[in-house]
Amino acid sequence: MFSPIKKHIALISVHGDPAIEIGKEEAGGQNVYVRQVGQALAQKGWLVDMFTRKANPQQDTIVQHSLNCRTIRLNAGPEEFVPRDDIFGYLPEFVENFRQFQQENQITYPIVHTNYWLSAWVGMQLKNKLDIQQVHTYHSLGAVKYKSVTTIPMIATTRLSTEKAVLESAQRIVATSPQERDHMRTLVSQKGKIDIIPCGTDISHFGSISRIAAREQLGIDPETKVILYVGRFDRRKGIETLVRAVGQCQARKNHQLKLIIGGGFIPGHSDGKESDRIASIVDELGLNDLTIFPGRLSREVLPNYYTAADVTVVPSHYEPFGLVTIESMACGTPVIGSDVGGLQFTIVPEETGLLCPPKDNAAFAAAIDRILGNPERRNKLGINARERVEKMFSWDGVAAQLTNLYLDLLKQPKAKQFSSVSA
Ligand code: UDP
Repeated sequence: MFSPIKKHIALISVHGDPAIEIGKEEAGGQNVYVRQVGQALAQKGWLVDMFTRKANPQQDTIVQHSLNCRTIRLNAGPEEFVPRDDIFGYLPEFVENFRQFQQENQITYPIVHTNYWLSAWVGMQLKNKLDIQQVHTYHSLGAVKYKSVTTIPMIATTRLSTEKAVLESAQRIVATSPQERDHMRTLVSQKGKIDIIPCGTDISHFGSISRIAAREQLGIDPETKVILYVGRFDRRKGIETLVRAVGQCQARKNHQLKLIIGGGFIPGHSDGKESDRIASIVDELGLNDLTIFPGRLSREVLPNYYTAADVTVVPSHYEPFGLVTIESMACGTPVIGSDVGGLQFTIVPEETGLLCPPKDNAAFAAAIDRILGNPERRNKLGINARERVEKMFSWDGVAAQLTNLYLDLLKQPKAKQFSSVSA
């Protein structure tokens, strides 16, 4: 239903193209978030333009998603895939092209909502030059991420200083969970204004098929126990922990098991290398017969996978929110997650799933055994999970909360702020 808002809003997601196929080449939660938020805001009457970097000459410059929602691809560096850690040097060009687009199209965006630190930097530059208010969602915090990795990239210092500057200077920060807000306060800065607005999911799409039908579609017999992973191939996702846990779990002796590891990758790229590494661990543990790598799962087939599964496992070392968790919960499938970040918010232990210490293979194995060993309990956890998503995590509810935030900012007297970060 359209309300008479009719104001322009720019969502900026430099490296996470909202119009791209999700599930491959570093495309994951951020791409889904921006696209779904954009579409839900347009439904509420906003005129939504989502700006991203053009990463392929074949790509259309403008993709119209619905009447008032489109993706606009700006030039910034070569028209090819560039890993996110290497994009920073191209951002001044992105800023210039954004300004030019505004001028040429005579559009004024009173608010830019930036996503991830690269876009935060862009937003701060625009705020220096234009009469614009900035709202920012981090999607990942360097200060947390760098604690869980062994190699710190060259760009880390720039990222950390940008993340601090945007927290202190944006008109509003959106944390997607109380845990993320606490990380900002303890690890980044005490200054800045933070609202908690979670991520959402499409509750009519996820949860639209019965378990029997889903298994029929996938050719999985009713007796088989299915353990599911969905997501990017990235070390931070902890897929190794899941594979090693399955290698240890008792359920292997008692049931016919299937481990499905879903997600796309490009051979030779970082996700392709991680996929090779995981495949070699599967091989080393003798799990080839029960493990399937179906590749990228399209949005159309995802509900079948989640619904067919007995349990979804999200073994991340760090997870700011974790859309996969609520997608699985919406399909009535409980989730075993690492006891970190947003997973502590979405999963209620013993009610909608279980939490385990990250990287703890034995704990994940025990949790998998508990859920697979008690189908009635598993079903109860699944019912509770669906209820929790319906209550807290619909995109429509998220867009309503963001709308209130934006309208609130637009009511406030304009105070031009200048950020302290420069190129
Ligand atoms: N996804 C997908 N197909 C795949 C793998 C992942 O559509 O093959 C989607 C998944 O459904 C979810 C997103 O990618 O919406 C991953 O988001 P999440 O927040 O779980 O992880 P992130 O990518 O942000 O680390």
